[in-house]
Amino acid sequence: MQHVLVSSCLLGLPARYNGEQVACEHPVLRRWQDEGRIVVFCPEVAGGLPTPRPPAEVAEGKGGRLVLAGEAKVIDKTGADVTEPFLRGARLAQDLVRTRQIRIAILKEGSPSCGSSYSYDGTFSHQRLQLAGVTTAALEEAGVRVFSENQLDEAAAFLETLDQ
Ligand code: SF4
Repeated sequence: MQHVLVSSCLLGLPARYNGEQVACEHPVLRRWQDEGRIVVFCPEVAGGLPTPRPPAEVAEGKGGRLVLAGEAKVIDKTGADVTEPFLRGARLAQDLVRTRQIRIAILKEGSPSCGSSYSYDGTFSHQRLQLAGVTTAALEEAGVRVFSENQLDEAAAFLETLDQ
């Protein structure tokens, strides 16, 4: 049986930077929980950041892929450079999927770690860019297909193909 990596915050765990509850009640997630498929992970907490913490964004609109490549930084709203914990969390996510042979993840949309179809531009002004977060980029590099909480039906169809 294939396991599915899921952002901690989507399962109601207190991992978000602002402590906000963003639990996802989609029936697909509940079914996967009942089936024992879910592996819960928060890259920012795993990387050593506290909860709550200041919001952070990839600087200069560069996106997670360039952070992984060492060509961009993650800066929090106080101006602190949090690139290292973000990278540590992303590498731990890669280790986890490789060890557990996980090929699919459901990650919270819009996060500088977990965003997949968008993240923010580094100005803390709610400007979205079509760029993945740091952990999403790392997982895609490891061959994992990343979906957001808005794509759970599509993710379930993909999982069926993996189970076959
Ligand atoms: Fe952690 Fe990702 Fe959720 Fe942020 S979006 S709290 S990094 S799991």
